[in-house]
Amino acid sequence: MDIFDSHTHANTMQNSVLELMNVAGITEVAICSFIPLAKNPETLKDHFEELCTFQKERIEKYGIEAHVFVGIHPLCIPENWKKAIEFVEEFLAEDMATGIGEVGLHFLNEREEDVLLNQLELAREYSVPAIVHTPSTNRVSAVEKIVKIAEKAKVDFGSLVIDHTSIDTIGIVKENNAIAGVSIKPGIVTPEMIVENLDDFEDCLLNSDCANVTDTDPLAVPKTVRYIMREGIEKKIVKRMCFDNAKKVYKV
Ligand SMILES: [Zn+2]
Repeated sequence: MDIFDSHTHANTMQNSVLELMNVAGITEVAICSFIPLAKNPETLKDHFEELCTFQKERIEKYGIEAHVFVGIHPLCIPENWKKAIEFVEEFLAEDMATGIGEVGLHFLNEREEDVLLNQLELAREYSVPAIVHTPSTNRVSAVEKIVKIAEKAKVDFGSLVIDHTSIDTIGIVKENNAIAGVSIKPGIVTPEMIVENLDDFEDCLLNSDCANVTDTDPLAVPKTVRYIMREGIEKKIVKRMCFDNAKKVYKV
């Protein structure tokens, strides 16, 4: 089965890992921009450029189509973030990026909210999807705030992926007709949880959020697919979670 890993930092993976990902069935990925501690807007601009050119080509050499998402992550908001917003817009206007991401809330402060609002307004203006990060603490209030900001930005909730969703937050995401991104990582969601709560998860976008600086697994989605198939979940449903939903929401 072809797999679309809907949220990765595959640009940080070495070539041999990209090859393994493809051998395991991954044929498409979303790569999300993220530079920890970036202080200058130009740092992000160079990073976006690197993702859209060098990294996209490198990943595609391994049989994995790469869709680039650009944005200001809450953990790397530069001092002069308005300039960085202009750079995000440039990449959308030039059709270099598929969407906005990874953006979101982490510490839930006012500055993060302003940065998120500005980026979701761009998502609306350019009719592109957005991948929105949620933190590992204060999870429910983070999702509630994101929904409010998205309403203010008048963004299309059918293209709003609220990511790192789990059992505690998936209800709010679904009630608001947003899309649940589900990262298979210890402490967030396990393959067992997917099987036990299939009704909640079948409309979601599975992903690994793999990055070489975190405890993540670049094969998390193929391993989950294998597990849930073994548990007897219908192939049609599995395909929706690991491929079809991402194609539809990302419009690719
Ligand atoms: Zn991420």
